[in-house]
Amino acid sequence: MHGLSTEPGRVAGTATPSGAPACPAALGVCKRSKGLVPLQNAFRFLGRDMAVDLGTANTLVYVRGRGIVLNEPSVVAINTRNNAILAVGADAKAMIGRTPGHIVAIRPLRDGVIADFDTTEKMLRYFVHKVHRRQFMAKPRVVVCVPSGITGVERRAVFDSTISAGARGAFIIEEPMAAAIGVGLPVHEPTGNMVVDIGGGTTEVAVISLGGIVTSQSIRIGGDELDEAIISYVKKEYSLMLGERTAEEIKITIGSAYPLPEEPRTEIRGRDLVTGLPKTITVGAEEIRKAIEEPVNAVVDAVKNTLDHTPPELAADVMDKGIVLTGGGALLRGLDERLKHETSMPIHLADDPLQSVAIGSGKCVEEFESLKRVLIASSRR
Ligand code: ADP
Ligand code: MG
Repeated sequence: MHGLSTEPGRVAGTATPSGAPACPAALGVCKRSKGLVPLQNAFRFLGRDMAVDLGTANTLVYVRGRGIVLNEPSVVAINTRNNAILAVGADAKAMIGRTPGHIVAIRPLRDGVIADFDTTEKMLRYFVHKVHRRQFMAKPRVVVCVPSGITGVERRAVFDSTISAGARGAFIIEEPMAAAIGVGLPVHEPTGNMVVDIGGGTTEVAVISLGGIVTSQSIRIGGDELDEAIISYVKKEYSLMLGERTAEEIKITIGSAYPLPEEPRTEIRGRDLVTGLPKTITVGAEEIRKAIEEPVNAVVDAVKNTLDHTPPELAADVMDKGIVLTGGGALLRGLDERLKHETSMPIHLADDPLQSVAIGSGKCVEEFESLKRVLIASSRR
């Protein structure tokens, strides 16, 4: 893909500080300037700044100089009797659909809105501490990615959670911007860069030029809606009840958005709604494509709408350079082909769609001074 680099931690000249760096004004208070912190510690201190991709499906943490150090599902399991957290991340995801009455496995960001602020904060705190373990005496600067569609109140909530999770400064970056930086697009140039990020709960489409988002659309439809569409199709056609995890597996194994050269089939297991007993059936790719048609169309329409609202010069740039697809949902088979067919634009799939946002926000941490223009919000003094 035209030389787009997605290598983490390969950013020139930032990871190894040489000599005492000046206190960047944006940081506000800088303890080093008081001469109280030994130089060596000051460098360790720098090493801990991090970026968090707080995704609706997966949370990734990037630590300065180290790259991505954590990649876990955004799921929290809670005991409803005493509100205690039982598990977070992969362990909690394994519990979805398998919990007894008093345990719930929650995805606090499920629809791209922070509906469950309290749980989001607990999850964020858990991940930040997991990465830092015993060393959180030095408070890091944290760059957090949020969907571009969230409200000012939600943004403030993320900011506050980050600070109360132990950050010295919190900076917010919009996901499409982070994704564009992550796939190596020249976001600061006066040229149209179009990126489509299909996550679990949201799809974000944006055209970026000169370091800012010119046009964007964020819809609350993503990979989750495809899973749900599979569940309702199989229920209607086969009277078979599927769990969320099974539906996701079907989507990943044989889901598609455009006819495939060979249409694979797969066996699926669920509970027969008539007999109440477990049952196995076989479904084909074509059927599943039909099942997920509606949410897939919504994603295609969001791309077309955004193109429609793109100023002509930038649209011409996009026509030349194409559209970059990223986010886990971009891995749906044939989606690139489908979008090419519907928009007549060149479509490029990012090298590592599940990590683009974390890599992009990680670059902001590595090159804080040159990229801070793209960050929203401020650091706390
Ligand atoms: P978020 O940023 O919202 O956390 P991600 O970018 O991590 O979301 O993408 C998660 C979504 O991608 C999930 O809905 C998941 O089912 C979907 N996904 C992951 N791999 C594939 C695949 N190979 N094909 C289709 N969808 C996929
Ligand atoms: Mg994402």
